Amino acid sequence: MNSTFRRMAIWFNGLPAEASAQQIIARLRTAGINHPFIAADHERDRAKIQEVIEEAHRHELTIHGDFCKGRLRNQTLRDLAQVLKDGTQQPLLCPANPACVDYVLEELRRVLSAYAYDGITLDDGYYFATGATYHPEAPTGRNFTVRPACYCAYCQRHAPIEQPGWEDWKREKVTALIGKQAQLARELKPGLHFSSAAHMPYELAYYEPHRAEIPYYEGWSISQCRRGRMVDWVEWVRRGHVDFVLPMVYYHSRDLVRWQTDECRSLLPNAATTVWVGLGLGTVTAEYFQGLSDKPGDRAHDPAMKNDAMVLDAQLQDQLRLGQENVAFFCYSELSDEHLPVLARYR
Ligand SMILES: [Zn+2]
Repeated sequence: MNSTFRRMAIWFNGLPAEASAQQIIARLRTAGINHPFIAADHERDRAKIQEVIEEAHRHELTIHGDFCKGRLRNQTLRDLAQVLKDGTQQPLLCPANPACVDYVLEELRRVLSAYAYDGITLDDGYYFATGATYHPEAPTGRNFTVRPACYCAYCQRHAPIEQPGWEDWKREKVTALIGKQAQLARELKPGLHFSSAAHMPYELAYYEPHRAEIPYYEGWSISQCRRGRMVDWVEWVRRGHVDFVLPMVYYHSRDLVRWQTDECRSLLPNAATTVWVGLGLGTVTAEYFQGLSDKPGDRAHDPAMKNDAMVLDAQLQDQLRLGQENVAFFCYSELSDEHLPVLARYR
């Protein structure tokens, strides 16, 4: 068993205003983190992002830009939004609509020409909404319901709505969009790392043997990635669209993290390198935000459910024991001083 990871990554959910680029990168180096993933406002934070990229390169870190244009952020794009059966617009763009594909590719071209990123990682806003509000990986503390999408004008003309094959059609549209982004990114920057965040579980059926021990089992039937969100990230890896995926395995429970890692390993023969399991730092655990059941708010915000340095240490040991070579953390704002020496031991 290895005692260190080849690559340790961390997501930035925005760049901290109070720290300089030098301070940020110095902190990562103290923790042995060599792959920062920057999710920041490419318009507003332009100067700061440039400084962080330069500083990262000065220290030979590999820096990735988070790219997420799947969400409806701007009402000028409302014609591209997913629509529910009752006509309600969803806050997500419809990946099937060719006008949406054009928009996403143009935005990607813009980010890649403006920033010297070594990699692009896709955020999780690319799926077909089922309308489910349940989301145990980044819990919202809300109840869940299922309302299938998409009934937008494009889908009404072209999709086999409510017919057999509708789900496959949607999965294929999402996969095609990812493939087009990968192709453009690699054309513009040969050698670029192209990756994506991934929702877990991939398929609920895998967890049947542990059903009684999983407090979120019912919710997972909604949020499971392939059948619930019409997102087949395993296929993206198989087709070579992405070099690796970052499953969002944000739990306090070692068992839940292990089982979800096992599922990834059962799906991809080279998961040791193509799957960088994303571990939650601090308050970023389903147990902390969601509580210990599918009922939102049930015993939520218990400080004992945070991933402190000791918990993280145990989860990292498990990752090595399972044979994983790379790992990721979410997110920088939850990285505490007590995490740093623990992480540093793994590089
Ligand atoms: Zn649509």
